[in-house]
Formats: sequence, structure tokens, C-alpha cells
Amino acid sequence: MIKISIKTQNRVLISRLIWSTVISSLILGCSNHEDLKVQNSFQRYLDTSTVDTFDLLIAQTTIFDGSETLKPKRDVLIHDGTIEFIGSVDSLIISIKKTIVADSLDILTPGFIDLHAHGNPLKNPEFVNFLYMGVTTICLGQDGTSPNYDDLTEWITRVEEKQLGPNIALFVGHGTLRLLSNILYKKNPDQADFDQMDSLLVHAMDVGCFGMSTGLEYSPGKFADSTELDRLANIINLKKGIIMSHIRNEDDLELENSLKELIRLGSKCPVHVSHLKSVYGKGNKRGAEILDILEEANQKGFEVTADLYPYLASYTGIGILFPDWAKPPNIYADVVRINRTKLKNYLTTKVESRNGPEATLFGSGKYKGKTLAEVATEENIDFADILINLGPSGASAAYFIMDDSLQSTLIKNPLVAIGSDGSPTMYHPRGYGTHAKVIEEYVVKRKTLALEAALTKMTSLPARILGIKDRGQIIQGAKADLILFNPLKVKANATFEDPYQLADGFNLVIVNGQITLMDGNMEELNGKIIRRTSQ
Ligand SMILES: [Zn+2]
Repeated sequence: MIKISIKTQNRVLISRLIWSTVISSLILGCSNHEDLKVQNSFQRYLDTSTVDTFDLLIAQTTIFDGSETLKPKRDVLIHDGTIEFIGSVDSLIISIKKTIVADSLDILTPGFIDLHAHGNPLKNPEFVNFLYMGVTTICLGQDGTSPNYDDLTEWITRVEEKQLGPNIALFVGHGTLRLLSNILYKKNPDQADFDQMDSLLVHAMDVGCFGMSTGLEYSPGKFADSTELDRLANIINLKKGIIMSHIRNEDDLELENSLKELIRLGSKCPVHVSHLKSVYGKGNKRGAEILDILEEANQKGFEVTADLYPYLASYTGIGILFPDWAKPPNIYADVVRINRTKLKNYLTTKVESRNGPEATLFGSGKYKGKTLAEVATEENIDFADILINLGPSGASAAYFIMDDSLQSTLIKNPLVAIGSDGSPTMYHPRGYGTHAKVIEEYVVKRKTLALEAALTKMTSLPARILGIKDRGQIIQGAKADLILFNPLKVKANATFEDPYQLADGFNLVIVNGQITLMDGNMEELNGKIIRRTSQ
């Protein structure tokens, strides 16, 4: 029966390979229909393949291919950076340079795609922190800030000379566009300014950016109005990109307006909320209300998605605590001289509304590692005076302003992917722990996310959001960004006290077909700059 079925498919040429398949099938007692189908499909693959010796076989592993279910006992064959075949490989009839046999509890998944990351690849191209949490692609150029180059080709060329750990997908920052087109703090740019900003955006998209990021809570992004943003969204639409936004205000009372400001642009192009959160909002019900806003927009036909990180503290410059009138273009020294009392009252109210000075943990500058409350006690002055003395750009800090039940509601929604918002140097555990923590905490400990749902949020969902078709999935022809791990052994070691602790558990990390991390040891770095391609 086996012979007949193979012969009818290959009437003329019975190759050496087919005979080997037949023989090994007989030896292995391949008698059921399913096995035969798989064997045939490998044979069909070989009939069209020109590869003599394959780079790597990952044998007999459960795979999560990016779709909904786990698939047991698959062989995945890799060559020249590409996934060549998935199914049952007869390794007796082909030549393979390296074979890795998975442990029985291991899962092979696409490498994680981190939708919101920070860091400078010219300084830290290895991005080891991301590799150790299974991330094989990071999205840089976030919150409105991207490399400060008129022509990003120059930056890309310099980065490509480095040995990159993960792949990098770049966004162009709206704030950087304002800076480069000399609009900077202008509230009403003129036509010539706009034209210059438009042409910079067009160029950035043409060299391969995936879209534009905005940081509307920061300077100079906050000076943009709807006319400016509409104009840029039209270009993003033409170029088939996406707008990712640090929205105008994440405070619970302002959240709805800020989300709606972004969603309005969804009528023009896909939009995405970066690090979705509510500052001082609380409870599941509030989480559900926030999700309703995103879901309603999708029901209207807009493409609106979000990412978040699984920690309850945010991290940014202490400028976030200061009023607009204490920041550029106003001169800070003048503000303090003229309006010190007013500023002190503002800062006191603001910090109290954000869970008080105990909830602000400095991550840079001379107070790094101490809370604002501790510093105030040590120096024996009001916490607001500490902030006034530092000034809005004087330090960065973590702010414990999120509520567990609210954020845990958000993370479960299928529109919400994972983005670390971390970097190799940021004093916050999210840069070293995010993806591991999603598995360790939500899948294994709390059991509030199914493993497949969590993996989707880190693989195929971010790929879909970015419009990347050849990563984030284990399919034939996709790039071989792969990770092999036992979910029960994944551990996020980074803490707020000790944030630079690498995650454990991702035993094998493959980037573009190359083993980059194996059993805790770094091997060859093979990340690339990846570019948006027109759909
Ligand atoms: Zn941000």
C-alpha cells in the first residue's frame, strides 16, 4: 500500500530519496494514514528543494506556530535563515549540520517581537537583556523620539556595521520630525514647515520605517494639534504604516479623551496605543471600560490595538510630574524665581495623586535607587522641594501608579499585545523581565492567561500589528527566528531593587537561523535591521 501510493505520485522518477523514505517507513512501521501523509509531504518538499545540506533540525518538538493550538511532535528544518519544512523529517535521507532534540516539555515558538523597546544599538548592539527573555525583534524609535538624522539611511548603515543581537524594526518619531523641520515648540507651523515635516516622514517610510511614533505627553509632541496629526496620518496611510502612540495623558480622568484623540486617526490609518495603562485608575470594571473604547473602535472598522508590560510601575523622566508652564520653551530658572510657591503646590498635589512620594523610585541621577520619600527624609526638606531643585529634566524614576486588577483585565484582551518599554540600561525590571514575567506570572502562577494566548501576544499578534508576514509565525518560508523553552522553567529575575537581572528559561534562541543563545551562553549574533515592505 505504501509503495503504490508513492508510485502513483511519482510515476516516472523514483529517486534515491523516495526509496529511502519507503524503506525507513517500513522499518519504522509507518502504517497509519496520518504518518504516510506526513512522509509524503516531506518527500514532496524534497522533490522541489535544491538544498544539499541543511543547517539545523529541531526534532520532535511541540510547536506553537502563531495560531491557536499547540502541535505536538513536529520536526522543524532550517536552512539559510529560513524555515524550510515543518512536519516529519526523515533525517536518514538528508544531510543536516546540526540536530537539536527537544525535551518532552519544551515548546518551540516564534521568537518574541517586542512592540515597544528603547536603547541605542550604536552603543549596546547586543541587547542581551532582550535575547534572554526570548525576544528576537525589538521596535525602536518610540514615544515620538527616533535617531536624530535627516536621512535615516545613514543611521541604518552605521547600525548594520554592528553585530546586533535581536532584529530591529524602526519607527520614526513625531517629536524628532518636529525637531528636524525646525517646528520644535511651534503651535501653529506654517505651510513650509509642514511641507518639510511631510517630506521627512515620506523619506523615513521609504527607507523602511514601520510607521510613526508619537509622544503627545512630551515636548515637543504635545504642541501638535489635530490638523498636524491628520496630515501625518494620511501619509502613514499612503505608505501602509501604523501610528504608535504614547497618548496625550494617561491619567485616569484624561484617559478616555486621550484614547479618542488617537482613535480618531484610526479613520485614516492603523493606530496603536503604547504601554496601555490607567494612572491611578482602579479595578476590573474600569479596565473593562477602557477596553470597550478600543473594541468599539474596532467594531467601527478601525484598526486599533495596544501593548502593555506586566509591571505596576511606569518609568520616565520626572518632567512627567511638572506642569507644562515649567517646561520648554519657558525658562525653568525664571519659573522657579517667579512662581516657586505655585510650582510647589502643583508638584505636591500631583505626587499625592500618584500614590505619594513613597511611590516614586529614582532610577537615575544622584538619588538612583531611593524613593522620593526617602530622599526627603534624608535631606529633611519637603519632597516637592527635592523635585524643584532637580528640575523637570533632572532625573528619571519609576512610579507605582497602576492597579493590579485593572492592568490584569487589560492584559487578557486579544487586542492587547506585549511591549516591554524596556532597555538594556533603564532602571526598571521591565527591560529584563517582561516576556518571562508574562509566562511566569500570568500563565503559570495565576493561570489567568492560557499559554497559547500569552504566546500569541508576543508572536503573531505583534507581527500582524506591524504588518510583518515572515516573522512571528512558524510557517514554511518564514524567517527562522525561533525560541525553545519549557514554560514551567521560565523565570523573570529582575526586580525594582535589582533590575539588571537576566531572565532564565529560554534555552535556545535562534535569530535569522543562527543559534544566538544556547543553555545560557551567547553564541553568534545575527540580528538585522528589518524594513517595512509595501503590502
Ligand atoms: Zn512611552
